[in-house]
This record gives sequence, C-alpha cells and structure tokens, in this order.
Amino acid sequence: MAARTLRIGLIPGDGIGKEVIPAGRKILEALPASLKLKFEFVDLKAGFEAFEQTGAALPEKTVEILKNECDGALFGAVSSPSKAVKGYSSPIVALRKRLDLYANVRPVKSVMTAKNPIDMVIVRENTEDVYVKEEKTYDTPEGKVAEAIKRISEKASFRIATMAGEIALRRQKIRDSGVPSIHKSPMVTITHKSNVLSQTDGLFRSTAREALAAHKFASSVGVEEQIVDSMVYKLFRQPETYDVIVAPNFYGDILSDGAAALVGSLGLVPSANVGEGFAIGEPCHGSAPDIMGQDIANPIATLRSVALMLEFLDEEVAAAKIYSAVDANLEEGRLLSPDLGGTASTTQVVEDILRRL
Ligand code: ATP
Ligand code: MG
Repeated sequence: MAARTLRIGLIPGDGIGKEVIPAGRKILEALPASLKLKFEFVDLKAGFEAFEQTGAALPEKTVEILKNECDGALFGAVSSPSKAVKGYSSPIVALRKRLDLYANVRPVKSVMTAKNPIDMVIVRENTEDVYVKEEKTYDTPEGKVAEAIKRISEKASFRIATMAGEIALRRQKIRDSGVPSIHKSPMVTITHKSNVLSQTDGLFRSTAREALAAHKFASSVGVEEQIVDSMVYKLFRQPETYDVIVAPNFYGDILSDGAAALVGSLGLVPSANVGEGFAIGEPCHGSAPDIMGQDIANPIATLRSVALMLEFLDEEVAAAKIYSAVDANLEEGRLLSPDLGGTASTTQVVEDILRRL
C-alpha cells in the first residue's frame, strides 16, 4: 500500500498557541511508519499578533492555502483584546464561515480509572440558531424591547445529526480497536426544547430523528432525546450515561463548556471544526496569557485535537494510537503539568507521550 500524504496547515496564533501547536506537529511526525502516513506542514498566520503585523486577523493567504492546498489544520488560540479593537474580529469564527465548517465537535473524556469515568462527545451545529445575529431593539411606551432571531433549518439539522451518527459509529470502531471506554454500544442523544419552541426546536428534533433513522445507523446506533434543561441536570449528576450528544448551536455552546468543566482542566479538552472533507483541530482553551512563555501549558488538549482531526480525515487507527498514548500518560500520572497538580513542563509531558507512541 502506498503511503498517504496529508498536508496540514499550522496556525499557532497567540499566547500558549505558540507552545502547544509545535507539540501537535511533533506527535504527527512521531506516528509509527507502519501506518504509512506522511505529513507536510504549512505555517500559517492568524490572530491578534497577525492583526498587529499585517492589519488582518485572518490574512487572505491563510484562507486560500487552507482551501486549496491543505487536508486539515491545527489552530492554537488567539487572544481576545480586553477592549474592542477597531477592525479586529475573531479569526476562528471567520474561518468557520469561510470554509463552511458547520460542526463543532468536542469530546470530553476522563481517565477510565477515575471514580466516575466519563467519555462523551458534544456535536454542536455551528452555522445558525441565534448566532445568525439578527437582532433589533425598538422603543415602546413601556420602554425598550430587544429581539433576536433563532433560525433552524432542515438542511443544517439533517447534516449535523448525520455527522453525530457517523461519529457514534466511528467511536465504536475506535473502542473495538482497543481504546477502553465505558460505553458498550453507540448512542446519540438529541437535545432540544421543543416543549416550548415547537417550531424551531421541533424542526431540529424531527429532522435529527429522520437523519438518524437512515439505513447506515438504524441497526447499530441507539437514538434518544432529551429536553435541554433536564439534560444539564443529568450531565452533572450522571455524565457517564452520555456517548454522543447532538445539539443546535446555542444549547451546544453552553453544554460543551459545562461538560468541559467535568474533567477538571481546560488543558485536557480538544475540539474540531468540521465541514465536508475538512477539519481543523483546536484545543478548547484560549491563549492563556497568564502562563505563556513558561513551558507549563498542558499540551494534551492539542494532542487530542490532532487525533480528532485525524478521525475526520479517516485515519482512525492513527487517532487511536494518540488517544491511547495520552490516556497512558494520564493514568500513570507521573508526568503531569501544573494545571493537573503535577510539576512537569510542557516539553516533558510531550516527550512522555511521544515515548508511549
Ligand atoms: P483568552 O482570552 O485567549 O481566552 P484567557 O485569559 O481567557 O485567554 P484561557 O486560555 O481561556 O485564558 O484560560 C483560562 C484559564 O485556564 C487560565 O488561567 C489559563 O492559565 C488556564 N489554562 C488554559 N489553557 C491551559 C493549558 N493548556 N494548560 C494549563 N492551563 C491552562
Ligand atoms: Mg478564555
């Protein structure tokens, strides 16, 4: 079998992004040769520093190269200026739009040796809902009133639910390949509030059901649904019950940050921004200016984001190797970064995980 070459854009951005993205590159380079995978890297700019240097937070060249030359990308973090800066807006939000990365995927996993282990992934729709930002304010005799549009479409709901089903099947494949988990079979939970919003959330719910009834899921993926408020309760009381959660944009935003809190450190939680045939891995944390330049940032969120990106490039075996190496480091617990109560540096954690590959 000929080797497959993947071209990966590297966008470190600002702050600790510059320290963790090189670790992401290292782990790709360290994957065993038996996988027959080769990587080429392109260094790309985006973020606040890029804005200060070039006047663009997301230089056009970065978008063009990602679109035309890359199979996937890794995005570090960008600092958000404390006050609004004229002409500056978040480059990752712009990238999601430009590349139609319609899903935000966030796995939340503890070590399997934890007292109550959890292993879930939240699949958040990323193009519509209240984030269409169509708001208005008007005066009435009783004072101002503000309104926002919540837009839900059949098309966006169908494709996000289909992606959730595919992720559920793939997670099973990864479990079958020997990465331990608490789940025995794939399950997708549809989140909504259709008891109140019968039209918008009602459409999301019925469309997601329809998507998950497709032949390829029907026999193997379990489907259930839950009202979002009761889901929050259960998410904190019995998080181990969830495998794949699919949600419209707004609920997904809240659930994914809430779920990230279940595993302790932001430094552990990966994400991916996914569209048709393209994925950008992105650690959930920000640029963490308080710890930058000290070689103490936890690289695990980034390493897991690398694995997640590989999953969407159909390289499950390579992804599983990275997940296992990270889990082994956490389970042994000897070389942990300070956010996890350890004393190891970023460099030491990366070296330990590379050794386990
Ligand atoms: P930004 O505006 O870029 O989001 P922030 O100041 O909000 O920056 P975050 O990156 O969101 O910072 O991080 C929040 C807190 O979590 C900080 O105290 C930070 O040090 C810590 N933190 C974030 N990421 C990591 C990491 N990878 N390793 C260790 N600690 C982290
Ligand atoms: Mg932040």
